[in-house]
Amino acid sequence: MSSSNLLDKMIEALQVMPGIGPVSATRIAYYLLDRKRTEGLLMTKAVDEALSNISLCPICRNYTDVENEPCQLCSNARRKEKHSICVVETPSDVMAIEASASYQGNYFVLHGHLSPLDGIGPHELGLEYLKDRLSQERIEEVIIATSHTVEGDVTASYIASMVKKFDIRVSRIATGVPLGGELGSVDGNTLALSLNYRRDM
Ligand SMILES: [Zn+2]
Repeated sequence: MSSSNLLDKMIEALQVMPGIGPVSATRIAYYLLDRKRTEGLLMTKAVDEALSNISLCPICRNYTDVENEPCQLCSNARRKEKHSICVVETPSDVMAIEASASYQGNYFVLHGHLSPLDGIGPHELGLEYLKDRLSQERIEEVIIATSHTVEGDVTASYIASMVKKFDIRVSRIATGVPLGGELGSVDGNTLALSLNYRRDM
């Protein structure tokens, strides 16, 4: 217990972060109080705004600022001209691919992978939204960039058979992505190569 009830509450709240226990939380709390009050307030405002407003993009299911409005990537007309969708497991996978600057098309974010034992099926991954896009947009290729794990493979196969019904080319990112590795842990050059050397499914 500290000398201040508010400080105790702050230390408690900071422990919501991954890897932050009581010792680190206490250090961060004193750091913000002693040296970074203004920046700390700006940070909490940014966190508040993001957590209160960010919702899923109605097109790609990545995060967007305003509910039911397309995200920044889907609003980009030049991306639509590419007529391709890259399917990834997480929003941070999109960030990793964008950072590699090797892909300029559109995305679809699953927020996970098929995992029947955990009750995660096609509906939980929003695959009906992907289906709608395949039937409504002019899509020429779907690139599946799920992780090379058992669940990632199963998810890729499921999506591939769904895409093929629409007579659309479907491919999977290839070399360089380590088994069981997530896209975020792969460097940009490797990711660019794995996109370039994708193979048809
Ligand atoms: Zn979007």
